[in-house]
Amino acid sequence: MKRICQLLLLSLLVAGCASKPQVKYVFYFIGDGMGVNEVIGTNLYNQANGLEPVNFTQFPVVNFITTVSANSLVTDSSAAGTALATGVKINNSVVGVDPDGNPTPNLTEWAHAAGYGTGVATSVGVNHATPASFVAHTSSRNGYEEISLQMIDSPVDFMAGATFLTNRGSGHDAAYFEHKADSAGIAIFKGPGAMGKMDEIDFLKPRILCLSAKAEDSIPYAIDRKEDDTQLADFTDAGIRYLESRFGKKGFFFMIEGGKIDYAGHGNDAATCFQEVNDMAVSVDLALAFLARYPKETLIVITADHETGGLMLGSGRYEMHPDRLARQHASVDALTDQFRAKFFPEGQPFKTPTWDAVKAFFAEETGMWGDVEVSERVEKELKGIYDQTFGKGGDRNLSESNLYSVNFQIVADVVRALDRAAGYQWSFGSHSGSPVGLYVTGACAEEFGTVKDNTEIAPLIAKLAGYTK
Ligand SMILES: [Zn+2]
Repeated sequence: MKRICQLLLLSLLVAGCASKPQVKYVFYFIGDGMGVNEVIGTNLYNQANGLEPVNFTQFPVVNFITTVSANSLVTDSSAAGTALATGVKINNSVVGVDPDGNPTPNLTEWAHAAGYGTGVATSVGVNHATPASFVAHTSSRNGYEEISLQMIDSPVDFMAGATFLTNRGSGHDAAYFEHKADSAGIAIFKGPGAMGKMDEIDFLKPRILCLSAKAEDSIPYAIDRKEDDTQLADFTDAGIRYLESRFGKKGFFFMIEGGKIDYAGHGNDAATCFQEVNDMAVSVDLALAFLARYPKETLIVITADHETGGLMLGSGRYEMHPDRLARQHASVDALTDQFRAKFFPEGQPFKTPTWDAVKAFFAEETGMWGDVEVSERVEKELKGIYDQTFGKGGDRNLSESNLYSVNFQIVADVVRALDRAAGYQWSFGSHSGSPVGLYVTGACAEEFGTVKDNTEIAPLIAKLAGYTK
């Protein structure tokens, strides 16, 4: 009898959600490249290092969804971003246009048409694939000029990201697009200091754009962060304060992307990847604090566009040692800079470093050959790379390119070896077709329990929040 009552109550609740829109405030988080193993891998890392589980893994609804695009079983970020923003599958590398050439209306357009405030924020370029998918319609995700202009012309109230990415040879730099935004009446705030000082007078401005204060295509990885660096949480906090101040009565839709989880996956860098997941969770905490204030009207949806790197939990043995990743002090990219500064000091004649000196560097910065024991087989492999780099006739710049950075081969290989020693194994440097998680809490969260594909989320949000489609 009790069970029947519970079922009845649940069906009434669901019916209430479906029949009468009650969601006023929507937070839609996208962890770029944040596959199921990236999230569970972060939880294992957190557990081993005395940290709390990732907050959204504790949400009442935890599900998984498929991610295929219209023309590939392995999606890219713009096709997946568009599916998440519009509910329509499109071809890889296209933004907001279906395979027949028709623009696909998206959540910010629907929300705006219904009178809601809208915002998009990311830790990478403001016009990168994911935020672009929620605003723009164009045949190529790499057409940064077109995407920037469409974003500036769009009605989106709040936009945030590191910078405007530009196309080489276009003759236009980021400052050109900032000027365009300014001319369009958009108020610009750069860096955490300026964003933190935004007040009620600023909140009266019709549109706001937040950027990093430094010239950078993406804000620094959490693992590399310095004190005055911009963080995703700065953007999230500024967005919440602005949208609540201006649209608190009516409601708002706010998409927030953890964009560099994907970068770390492309670079096969587990410690950096997991700290990025934890860093997005800091922004999720801000949304949870908002939910605590408006529990009946706030919906928080968290998912990913795809998995990146083919990350496995386990590296061939029946054991894992996630604690070993805590010895890594910097991302592969930053370690490359440190390696260059140490062994190729500017303005000084080059002196071939000994293998022991190289090992001592990695012991200090990653724990390999320090606390983390290196097997004979792995040492032989890595010594081989050292010889190819510094040996007779070697290539001192022996490097590995991933989608977003170029690193010394030996640095990339040592970090991958550390990941394996910790029990994490990467398969490759690109996306996989693995499913991704869907984590939902707040008003009408239970409606997401039956979602199976990335195209089902946007129409469901629109229905629950009463957007005009
Ligand atoms: Zn992506």
